[in-house]
Amino acid sequence: MLSVNASKLDYLKTEEIGSLQENNPTAAHNVKMVKRTDGTESPILAEPDTEGHDKPRVKYGELVILGYNGYLPQGDRGRRRSKFVLYKRTESNGVKRSKHYIVQSPQTSKAILDANQHSISYTLSRNQAVIVEYKEDSETDMFQVGRSSESPIDFVVMDTLPGDKKDAKVMQSTISRFACRILVNRNESSKARIYAAGFDSSRNIFLGEKATKWQDNVEIDGLTTNGVLIMHPKGQFCGGNAKCGLWRECSVGGDVFSLRESRSAQQKGQPVYEESNVLQDGTLIDLCGATLLWRSAEGLQHSPTKRDLEKLIDDINAGRPQCPVGLNTLVIPRKVSLGEHVNQPYVYLNCGHVQGHHDWGQDKSTGARRCPMCLELGPVVTLCMGIEPAFYVDSGPPTYAFNPCGHMATEKTVKYWANVDIPHGTNGFQAVCPFCATPLDGSPGYIKLIFQDNLD
Ligand SMILES: [Zn+2]
Ligand SMILES: [Zn+2]
Repeated sequence: MLSVNASKLDYLKTEEIGSLQENNPTAAHNVKMVKRTDGTESPILAEPDTEGHDKPRVKYGELVILGYNGYLPQGDRGRRRSKFVLYKRTESNGVKRSKHYIVQSPQTSKAILDANQHSISYTLSRNQAVIVEYKEDSETDMFQVGRSSESPIDFVVMDTLPGDKKDAKVMQSTISRFACRILVNRNESSKARIYAAGFDSSRNIFLGEKATKWQDNVEIDGLTTNGVLIMHPKGQFCGGNAKCGLWRECSVGGDVFSLRESRSAQQKGQPVYEESNVLQDGTLIDLCGATLLWRSAEGLQHSPTKRDLEKLIDDINAGRPQCPVGLNTLVIPRKVSLGEHVNQPYVYLNCGHVQGHHDWGQDKSTGARRCPMCLELGPVVTLCMGIEPAFYVDSGPPTYAFNPCGHMATEKTVKYWANVDIPHGTNGFQAVCPFCATPLDGSPGYIKLIFQDNLD
Protein backbone atom coordinates (compact mmCIF):
# COMPACT_ATOMS: atom_id res chain seq x y z
CA MET A 1 0.00 0.00 0.00
CA LEU A 2 1.21 3.46 -0.79
CA SER A 3 0.98 6.15 1.80
CA VAL A 4 0.82 9.75 0.81
CA ASN A 5 2.15 12.64 2.71
CA ALA A 6 0.47 15.98 2.13
CA SER A 7 2.24 18.74 3.97
CA LYS A 8 0.36 21.75 5.27
CA LEU A 9 1.97 23.84 2.61
CA ASP A 10 0.38 21.65 0.01
CA TYR A 11 -3.22 22.26 1.03
CA LEU A 12 -5.33 23.53 -1.82
CA LYS A 13 -6.33 27.12 -1.42
CA THR A 14 -10.05 27.70 -1.05
CA GLU A 15 -10.32 29.73 -4.23
CA GLU A 16 -8.68 26.91 -6.15
CA ILE A 17 -11.25 24.46 -4.83
CA GLY A 18 -13.98 26.92 -5.79
CA SER A 19 -12.89 26.94 -9.38
CA LEU A 20 -12.70 23.15 -9.40
CA GLN A 21 -16.27 22.93 -8.18
CA GLU A 22 -17.71 25.14 -10.86
CA ASN A 23 -19.53 23.29 -13.58
CA ASN A 24 -19.99 20.31 -11.39
CA PRO A 25 -23.67 19.42 -11.54
CA THR A 26 -24.70 16.48 -9.45
CA ALA A 27 -25.04 12.86 -10.53
CA ALA A 28 -22.84 9.85 -10.26
CA HIS A 29 -21.75 6.88 -12.26
CA ASN A 30 -23.93 4.00 -11.26
CA VAL A 31 -26.03 1.35 -12.80
CA LYS A 32 -28.85 3.70 -13.69
CA MET A 33 -29.04 5.61 -16.92
CA VAL A 34 -26.68 8.44 -16.27
CA LYS A 35 -26.23 11.61 -18.19
CA ARG A 36 -22.64 12.53 -17.99
CA THR A 37 -20.94 15.80 -18.69
CA ASP A 38 -17.24 15.37 -18.91
CA GLY A 39 -16.39 18.55 -20.63
CA THR A 40 -19.54 20.63 -21.06
CA GLU A 41 -19.53 23.37 -23.59
CA SER A 42 -15.94 24.43 -24.09
CA PRO A 43 -14.70 23.99 -27.60
CA ILE A 44 -11.39 22.28 -28.12
CA LEU A 45 -9.21 25.03 -29.40
CA ALA A 46 -6.66 24.21 -32.01
CA GLU A 47 -3.18 24.83 -30.69
CA PRO A 48 -1.61 27.75 -32.43
CA ASP A 49 1.74 26.82 -33.87
CA THR A 50 2.71 30.42 -34.34
CA GLU A 51 2.53 33.10 -31.73
CA GLY A 52 3.76 36.42 -32.89
CA HIS A 53 6.28 34.60 -35.05
CA ASP A 54 6.31 34.40 -38.79
CA LYS A 55 7.86 30.98 -38.85
CA PRO A 56 6.07 28.01 -37.30
CA ARG A 57 7.59 27.23 -33.95
CA VAL A 58 9.55 24.05 -33.38
CA LYS A 59 7.42 21.74 -31.29
CA TYR A 60 9.16 19.44 -28.81
CA GLY A 61 6.08 17.58 -27.62
CA GLU A 62 2.99 17.69 -25.44
CA LEU A 63 2.23 17.00 -21.81
CA VAL A 64 -1.36 15.83 -21.49
CA ILE A 65 -3.12 15.33 -18.15
CA LEU A 66 -4.92 12.00 -17.89
CA GLY A 67 -8.62 12.47 -17.20
CA TYR A 68 -9.61 15.28 -19.53
CA ASN A 69 -11.21 14.81 -22.88
CA GLY A 70 -9.55 17.68 -24.69
CA TYR A 71 -10.06 20.57 -22.25
CA LEU A 72 -10.66 21.40 -18.59
CA PRO A 73 -14.33 21.39 -17.48
CA GLN A 74 -14.14 25.10 -16.73
CA GLY A 75 -12.26 25.75 -19.98
CA ASP A 76 -8.54 26.03 -20.65
CA ARG A 77 -7.16 29.32 -19.42
CA GLY A 78 -3.61 30.54 -19.61
CA ARG A 79 -1.26 28.13 -17.90
CA ARG A 80 -4.15 26.06 -16.54
CA ARG A 81 -5.22 23.69 -19.27
CA SER A 82 -5.68 20.01 -20.00
CA LYS A 83 -2.48 19.87 -22.00
CA PHE A 84 0.63 21.90 -22.50
CA VAL A 85 2.58 22.12 -25.74
CA LEU A 86 6.34 22.52 -25.40
CA TYR A 87 7.76 24.76 -28.09
CA LYS A 88 11.36 25.68 -28.63
CA ARG A 89 11.99 28.94 -26.82
CA THR A 90 13.23 32.04 -28.60
CA GLU A 91 16.16 32.04 -26.22
CA SER A 92 17.41 29.17 -24.12
CA ASN A 93 16.46 29.22 -20.44
CA GLY A 94 17.95 25.91 -19.31
CA VAL A 95 20.37 25.54 -16.44
CA LYS A 96 23.01 22.98 -15.57
CA ARG A 97 24.82 21.94 -12.45
CA SER A 98 27.77 24.06 -11.53
CA LYS A 99 29.75 24.19 -8.28
CA HIS A 100 28.62 23.02 -4.86
CA TYR A 101 29.71 23.77 -1.32
CA ILE A 102 28.67 23.41 2.29
CA VAL A 103 27.17 26.30 4.23
CA GLN A 104 26.02 26.65 7.80
CA SER A 105 22.86 28.63 7.19
CA PRO A 106 21.46 28.26 3.68
CA GLN A 107 18.80 30.95 4.20
CA THR A 108 21.42 33.65 4.36
CA SER A 109 23.89 32.27 1.84
CA LYS A 110 24.64 34.36 -1.22
CA ALA A 111 23.37 31.89 -3.83
CA ILE A 112 19.99 31.62 -2.10
CA LEU A 113 19.59 35.35 -1.60
CA ASP A 114 20.57 36.07 -5.21
CA ALA A 115 17.26 35.79 -7.11
CA ASN A 116 19.12 35.55 -10.42
CA GLN A 117 21.15 32.55 -9.35
CA HIS A 118 19.55 29.11 -9.74
CA SER A 119 20.47 26.92 -6.80
CA ILE A 120 19.38 23.83 -4.91
CA SER A 121 19.80 23.67 -1.17
CA TYR A 122 20.03 20.24 0.46
CA THR A 123 19.59 20.67 4.20
CA LEU A 124 21.68 18.10 6.06
CA SER A 125 21.06 19.31 9.60
CA ARG A 126 19.97 22.42 11.42
CA ASN A 127 23.27 24.11 10.76
CA GLN A 128 24.61 22.40 7.68
CA ALA A 129 23.44 22.40 4.07
CA VAL A 130 24.94 21.64 0.69
CA ILE A 131 24.25 24.26 -1.93
CA VAL A 132 24.52 23.32 -5.58
CA GLU A 133 24.68 26.28 -7.91
CA TYR A 134 23.25 26.01 -11.40
CA LYS A 135 24.50 28.03 -14.33
CA GLU A 136 22.89 29.00 -17.61
CA ASP A 137 22.88 26.32 -20.27
CA SER A 138 22.51 27.62 -23.81
CA GLU A 139 21.91 24.06 -25.04
CA THR A 140 18.63 23.48 -23.21
CA ASP A 141 15.12 24.87 -22.70
CA MET A 142 13.52 24.42 -19.30
CA PHE A 143 9.79 23.88 -18.64
CA GLN A 144 8.39 23.62 -15.13
CA VAL A 145 5.23 21.87 -13.94
CA GLY A 146 3.47 22.23 -10.59
CA ARG A 147 0.44 23.40 -8.66
CA SER A 148 1.76 26.91 -8.07
CA SER A 149 0.49 29.72 -10.23
CA GLU A 150 3.76 31.60 -9.74
CA SER A 151 5.45 32.64 -12.95
CA PRO A 152 8.24 30.00 -13.01
CA ILE A 153 5.55 27.34 -13.51
CA ASP A 154 4.78 26.92 -17.21
CA PHE A 155 2.07 24.31 -16.77
CA VAL A 156 -0.19 24.60 -13.72
CA VAL A 157 -1.55 21.18 -12.79
CA MET A 158 -4.27 20.54 -10.20
CA ASP A 159 -5.38 17.24 -8.69
CA THR A 160 -7.44 15.27 -11.17
CA LEU A 161 -10.63 13.66 -9.98
CA PRO A 162 -12.04 10.63 -11.74
CA GLY A 163 -15.20 10.78 -13.80
CA ASP A 164 -17.13 13.84 -14.74
CA LYS A 165 -15.45 16.13 -12.18
CA LYS A 166 -18.87 16.96 -10.78
CA ASP A 167 -18.32 16.04 -7.18
CA ALA A 168 -14.93 17.71 -6.95
CA LYS A 169 -13.96 17.59 -3.31
CA VAL A 170 -10.19 17.81 -3.20
CA MET A 171 -9.64 19.26 0.22
CA GLN A 172 -5.95 18.83 0.22
CA SER A 173 -3.63 18.45 -2.68
CA THR A 174 -0.74 16.05 -2.85
CA ILE A 175 0.80 17.72 -5.90
CA SER A 176 3.84 19.82 -5.11
CA ARG A 177 3.67 23.51 -5.97
CA PHE A 178 6.97 23.10 -7.84
CA ALA A 179 6.68 19.47 -8.82
CA CYS A 180 9.09 18.84 -11.65
CA ARG A 181 11.13 20.36 -14.44
CA ILE A 182 11.82 19.16 -17.96
CA LEU A 183 14.91 20.15 -19.88
CA VAL A 184 14.89 19.71 -23.64
CA ASN A 185 18.03 19.76 -25.74
CA ARG A 186 17.55 22.62 -28.23
CA ASN A 187 19.53 20.86 -30.95
CA GLU A 188 18.30 17.36 -30.28
CA SER A 189 14.67 17.71 -29.23
CA SER A 190 14.26 13.98 -28.71
CA LYS A 191 16.34 14.48 -25.56
CA ALA A 192 13.77 15.75 -23.06
CA ARG A 193 14.84 14.93 -19.54
CA ILE A 194 12.70 15.09 -16.43
CA TYR A 195 13.87 16.02 -12.92
CA ALA A 196 12.00 16.09 -9.62
CA ALA A 197 11.31 19.55 -8.13
CA GLY A 198 11.13 22.91 -9.84
CA PHE A 199 12.77 26.25 -9.12
CA ASP A 200 10.59 28.78 -7.30
CA SER A 201 10.27 32.51 -7.97
CA SER A 202 13.61 33.08 -6.28
CA ARG A 203 15.16 30.40 -8.49
CA ASN A 204 15.70 28.12 -5.52
CA ILE A 205 14.81 24.56 -4.68
CA PHE A 206 14.89 23.70 -0.96
CA LEU A 207 15.11 20.13 0.21
CA GLY A 208 14.40 20.22 3.93
CA GLU A 209 15.99 18.25 6.72
CA LYS A 210 13.42 15.45 6.43
CA ALA A 211 13.67 15.01 2.67
CA THR A 212 15.44 11.88 1.44
CA LYS A 213 18.92 12.79 0.22
CA TRP A 214 22.29 11.19 -0.18
CA GLN A 215 25.79 11.90 -1.36
CA ASP A 216 27.50 9.59 -3.85
CA ASN A 217 31.18 10.34 -4.12
CA VAL A 218 30.97 14.07 -4.59
CA GLU A 219 27.50 14.70 -5.94
CA ILE A 220 24.49 15.17 -3.71
CA ASP A 221 20.97 14.22 -4.76
CA GLY A 222 17.53 13.81 -3.21
CA LEU A 223 13.86 12.97 -3.60
CA THR A 224 10.83 15.21 -3.17
CA THR A 225 8.16 14.43 -0.55
CA ASN A 226 5.67 12.54 -2.69
CA GLY A 227 8.12 12.02 -5.51
CA VAL A 228 7.95 12.15 -9.29
CA LEU A 229 7.26 8.75 -10.81
CA ILE A 230 7.82 7.86 -14.44
CA MET A 231 6.83 4.90 -16.58
CA HIS A 232 8.40 4.33 -19.98
CA PRO A 233 6.22 1.97 -22.04
CA LYS A 234 7.97 -1.12 -23.40
CA GLY A 235 7.78 -0.79 -27.15
CA GLN A 236 6.43 1.96 -29.37
CA PHE A 237 3.42 3.83 -27.98
CA CYS A 238 2.21 4.41 -31.54
CA GLY A 239 0.98 1.20 -33.09
CA GLY A 240 -0.62 -0.19 -29.98
CA ASN A 241 1.84 -2.99 -29.33
CA ALA A 242 3.57 -1.39 -26.35
CA LYS A 243 3.24 -2.86 -22.88
CA CYS A 244 3.14 -1.07 -19.56
CA GLY A 245 6.69 -0.73 -18.20
CA LEU A 246 7.75 -0.55 -14.57
CA TRP A 247 7.13 2.61 -12.59
CA ARG A 248 10.32 4.30 -11.42
CA GLU A 249 11.14 7.34 -9.35
CA CYS A 250 13.10 10.27 -10.67
CA SER A 251 15.42 12.23 -8.36
CA VAL A 252 16.10 15.95 -8.16
CA GLY A 253 19.36 15.30 -10.00
CA GLY A 254 17.62 13.23 -12.69
CA ASP A 255 18.69 9.72 -11.71
CA VAL A 256 16.27 6.78 -11.85
CA PHE A 257 15.35 4.57 -8.89
CA SER A 258 12.95 1.73 -8.14
CA LEU A 259 9.89 2.80 -6.16
CA ARG A 260 10.14 3.46 -2.45
CA GLU A 261 8.29 1.10 -0.12
CA SER A 262 5.58 3.70 0.18
CA ARG A 263 5.14 6.89 -1.77
CA SER A 264 6.79 9.21 0.74
CA ALA A 265 8.99 6.74 2.65
CA GLN A 266 12.34 8.01 3.91
CA GLN A 267 14.37 5.25 2.27
CA LYS A 268 15.06 5.70 -1.45
CA GLY A 269 14.67 2.81 -3.89
CA GLN A 270 17.49 1.01 -5.66
CA PRO A 271 19.26 2.85 -8.48
CA VAL A 272 18.23 1.63 -11.94
CA TYR A 273 21.24 2.35 -14.09
CA GLU A 274 19.90 0.88 -17.32
CA GLU A 275 16.98 3.31 -17.45
CA SER A 276 17.14 7.06 -17.86
CA ASN A 277 15.09 10.18 -17.25
CA VAL A 278 14.84 10.86 -20.99
CA LEU A 279 11.15 10.99 -21.88
CA GLN A 280 10.05 8.75 -24.69
CA ASP A 281 6.82 8.93 -26.66
CA GLY A 282 4.16 7.60 -24.27
CA THR A 283 6.08 8.05 -21.01
CA LEU A 284 3.75 8.64 -18.08
CA ILE A 285 4.69 11.09 -15.31
CA ASP A 286 2.90 10.78 -12.00
CA LEU A 287 2.91 13.81 -9.72
CA CYS A 288 0.82 12.19 -6.96
CA GLY A 289 -2.59 13.62 -7.72
CA ALA A 290 -2.29 14.00 -11.47
CA THR A 291 -0.72 11.83 -14.14
CA LEU A 292 0.73 13.34 -17.31
CA LEU A 293 1.33 11.66 -20.65
CA TRP A 294 4.35 12.77 -22.66
CA ARG A 295 3.87 12.69 -26.42
CA SER A 296 6.89 13.57 -28.51
CA ALA A 297 6.41 15.75 -31.57
CA GLU A 298 7.54 12.83 -33.71
CA GLY A 299 5.10 10.43 -32.07
CA LEU A 300 2.22 12.84 -32.52
CA GLN A 301 2.82 12.80 -36.25
CA HIS A 302 1.70 9.17 -36.22
CA SER A 303 -1.40 9.91 -34.16
CA PRO A 304 -4.82 10.93 -35.42
CA THR A 305 -5.72 14.60 -35.33
CA LYS A 306 -8.87 15.91 -33.69
CA ARG A 307 -10.25 16.42 -37.19
CA ASP A 308 -9.57 12.75 -38.02
CA LEU A 309 -11.50 11.73 -34.91
CA GLU A 310 -14.42 13.99 -35.79
CA LYS A 311 -14.50 12.45 -39.26
CA LEU A 312 -14.76 8.99 -37.67
CA ILE A 313 -17.81 10.09 -35.68
CA ASP A 314 -19.33 11.49 -38.86
CA ASP A 315 -18.74 8.16 -40.59
CA ILE A 316 -20.58 6.25 -37.86
CA ASN A 317 -23.42 8.75 -37.87
CA ALA A 318 -23.62 8.48 -41.66
CA GLY A 319 -24.48 4.78 -41.18
CA ARG A 320 -27.60 5.99 -39.34
CA PRO A 321 -27.34 3.68 -36.33
CA GLN A 322 -30.79 2.93 -35.02
CA CYS A 323 -32.29 2.28 -31.63
CA PRO A 324 -33.93 -1.16 -31.88
CA VAL A 325 -36.63 -0.12 -29.42
CA GLY A 326 -37.47 3.45 -30.31
CA LEU A 327 -36.50 2.92 -33.95
CA ASN A 328 -35.06 6.43 -33.95
CA THR A 329 -31.73 7.30 -35.50
CA LEU A 330 -28.92 7.73 -32.99
CA VAL A 331 -26.33 10.47 -33.26
CA ILE A 332 -22.98 10.20 -31.50
CA PRO A 333 -22.22 13.66 -30.16
CA ARG A 334 -18.83 15.26 -30.62
CA LYS A 335 -19.19 16.46 -27.09
CA VAL A 336 -21.58 15.50 -24.35
CA SER A 337 -24.24 18.13 -23.87
CA LEU A 338 -26.09 18.76 -20.67
CA GLY A 339 -29.58 18.67 -22.16
CA GLU A 340 -31.67 15.62 -22.83
CA HIS A 341 -30.97 14.41 -26.34
CA VAL A 342 -33.45 12.09 -27.94
CA ASN A 343 -30.73 10.83 -30.26
CA GLN A 344 -28.08 10.27 -27.59
CA PRO A 345 -26.79 6.69 -27.83
CA TYR A 346 -26.38 4.53 -24.75
CA VAL A 347 -24.35 1.36 -24.40
CA TYR A 348 -25.24 -1.72 -22.39
CA LEU A 349 -21.95 -2.34 -20.64
CA ASN A 350 -22.34 -6.11 -20.32
CA CYS A 351 -23.11 -6.84 -23.98
CA GLY A 352 -22.11 -3.74 -25.96
CA HIS A 353 -25.44 -3.16 -27.65
CA VAL A 354 -25.97 0.49 -28.49
CA GLN A 355 -29.47 1.90 -28.14
CA GLY A 356 -31.36 5.11 -27.53
CA HIS A 357 -33.01 6.36 -24.38
CA HIS A 358 -35.99 4.20 -23.44
CA ASP A 359 -37.48 2.64 -20.37
CA TRP A 360 -37.66 -0.94 -21.57
CA GLY A 361 -36.23 -3.64 -19.34
CA GLN A 362 -35.56 -1.56 -16.27
CA ASP A 363 -34.99 -3.53 -13.10
CA LYS A 364 -36.75 -1.42 -10.49
CA SER A 365 -34.74 -2.71 -7.55
CA THR A 366 -31.22 -2.25 -8.94
CA GLY A 367 -31.72 0.29 -11.69
CA ALA A 368 -29.95 -2.07 -14.09
CA ARG A 369 -31.49 -2.78 -17.46
CA ARG A 370 -32.16 -5.88 -19.46
CA CYS A 371 -30.92 -5.41 -23.00
CA PRO A 372 -33.84 -5.90 -25.42
CA MET A 373 -31.48 -7.41 -27.98
CA CYS A 374 -29.85 -10.15 -25.95
CA LEU A 375 -31.68 -9.97 -22.59
CA GLU A 376 -28.40 -9.45 -20.73
CA LEU A 377 -28.92 -7.47 -17.51
CA GLY A 378 -26.48 -4.74 -16.64
CA PRO A 379 -25.58 -1.11 -16.35
CA VAL A 380 -26.16 1.38 -19.13
CA VAL A 381 -24.17 4.53 -19.81
CA THR A 382 -24.15 7.33 -22.38
CA LEU A 383 -21.73 6.78 -25.22
CA CYS A 384 -19.28 9.57 -25.91
CA MET A 385 -16.30 9.93 -28.22
CA GLY A 386 -12.83 10.04 -26.71
CA ILE A 387 -11.76 13.16 -28.56
CA GLU A 388 -8.31 13.87 -27.07
CA PRO A 389 -6.04 12.62 -29.88
CA ALA A 390 -2.92 12.26 -27.71
CA PHE A 391 -4.37 9.21 -25.94
CA TYR A 392 -4.78 7.23 -29.17
CA VAL A 393 -2.19 4.58 -29.94
CA ASP A 394 -3.45 4.12 -33.50
CA SER A 395 -5.97 5.42 -35.99
CA GLY A 396 -9.22 3.75 -36.93
CA PRO A 397 -12.89 3.55 -36.12
CA PRO A 398 -13.84 3.85 -32.42
CA THR A 399 -15.38 0.40 -32.10
CA TYR A 400 -14.76 -0.08 -28.37
CA ALA A 401 -15.75 1.77 -25.20
CA PHE A 402 -14.35 1.83 -21.69
CA ASN A 403 -16.38 0.27 -18.89
CA PRO A 404 -17.94 1.99 -16.90
CA CYS A 405 -17.68 5.48 -18.42
CA GLY A 406 -18.60 4.83 -22.08
CA HIS A 407 -15.74 6.72 -23.71
CA MET A 408 -15.22 5.38 -27.23
CA ALA A 409 -11.84 4.78 -28.86
CA THR A 410 -10.10 2.34 -31.16
CA GLU A 411 -9.73 -1.29 -30.12
CA LYS A 412 -5.97 -0.97 -29.64
CA THR A 413 -6.28 2.26 -27.69
CA VAL A 414 -8.83 0.82 -25.30
CA LYS A 415 -6.82 -2.38 -24.83
CA TYR A 416 -3.58 -0.49 -24.28
CA TRP A 417 -4.97 1.70 -21.50
CA ALA A 418 -6.82 -1.21 -19.88
CA ASN A 419 -3.38 -2.74 -19.28
CA VAL A 420 -1.61 0.35 -17.95
CA ASP A 421 -1.32 0.71 -14.18
CA ILE A 422 -1.74 4.26 -12.95
CA PRO A 423 -0.59 5.15 -9.41
CA HIS A 424 -3.62 5.87 -7.31
CA GLY A 425 -3.13 7.83 -4.08
CA THR A 426 -3.00 5.41 -1.17
CA ASN A 427 -4.53 2.52 -3.09
CA GLY A 428 -1.64 1.38 -5.20
CA PHE A 429 -2.30 1.12 -8.91
CA GLN A 430 -5.33 0.86 -11.16
CA ALA A 431 -6.23 1.03 -14.84
CA VAL A 432 -8.25 4.11 -15.77
CA CYS A 433 -9.97 5.62 -18.78
CA PRO A 434 -7.51 8.27 -20.04
CA PHE A 435 -10.36 10.53 -21.16
CA CYS A 436 -11.97 10.86 -17.71
CA ALA A 437 -9.67 9.03 -15.23
CA THR A 438 -12.50 6.76 -14.10
CA PRO A 439 -11.10 3.46 -12.79
CA LEU A 440 -12.09 0.68 -15.15
CA ASP A 441 -14.73 -1.76 -13.99
CA GLY A 442 -14.29 -5.50 -14.02
CA SER A 443 -12.18 -7.44 -16.44
CA PRO A 444 -11.29 -6.57 -19.16
CA GLY A 445 -12.61 -3.06 -18.40
CA TYR A 446 -13.93 -2.37 -21.90
CA ILE A 447 -16.63 -3.54 -24.29
CA LYS A 448 -16.88 -3.98 -28.05
CA LEU A 449 -19.69 -1.81 -29.38
CA ILE A 450 -22.52 -3.37 -31.37
CA PHE A 451 -24.41 -0.86 -33.47
CA GLN A 452 -27.53 -1.59 -35.43
CA ASP A 453 -26.59 0.46 -38.46
CA ASN A 454 -26.28 0.60 -42.22
CA LEU A 455 -29.75 -0.98 -42.40
CA ASP A 456 -30.82 0.46 -45.74
ZN1 LIG B 1 -27.32 -6.69 -25.53
ZN1 LIG C 1 -13.93 7.69 -19.62
